[in-house]
Amino acid sequence: MVDIPGVQYGALVLNATYEPLCVVSVRRAAILVLSAKAVLVTDGEGILHSARQNLPVPSVVRLNHYVRVPYRAHVGLSRRAIFARDGWRCAYCRGPAETIDHVMPRSRGGRHVWENVVAACARCNHTKGDRTPVEIGWRLLVNPAAPKGAAWRVLGHRSPDPRWADWLGIGEAAA
Ligand SMILES: [Zn+2]
Repeated sequence: MVDIPGVQYGALVLNATYEPLCVVSVRRAAILVLSAKAVLVTDGEGILHSARQNLPVPSVVRLNHYVRVPYRAHVGLSRRAIFARDGWRCAYCRGPAETIDHVMPRSRGGRHVWENVVAACARCNHTKGDRTPVEIGWRLLVNPAAPKGAAWRVLGHRSPDPRWADWLGIGEAAA
């Protein structure tokens, strides 16, 4: 297989139950389809040419057989995952988020855990400084909890292709 055009996202792999599983390279997804281990659900852009046949660039594929996935209790805490959880909005003013704020500031012993981090705009983050929201009369507009659900196998790790939104249960803002 040669000449993979415009491939920036990889391909989303769904379990036989349509639950999001993981993201693989477009090449890997194409091999799953060509070997009848998966079916093409959503085309990406372009056509893959192999010696024997042509295949639309896969954007979403679904496995033909159910794969049992071990339950992952902990979703990795990354900048991208925090933004995704909070919808790319500031937890204090709902403006576009650009920074990560520790609700209880790290300088005062606040931990870097899901329950103590929120997405914030630069202005709120700066204004808040090393105080807590309560101390300055602010209210958290999000509940900073660890995210749950299958979509987080994918969301925390890379920017999702807008074509995946239906499968990940995310809106345009997240894509
Ligand atoms: Zn703000």
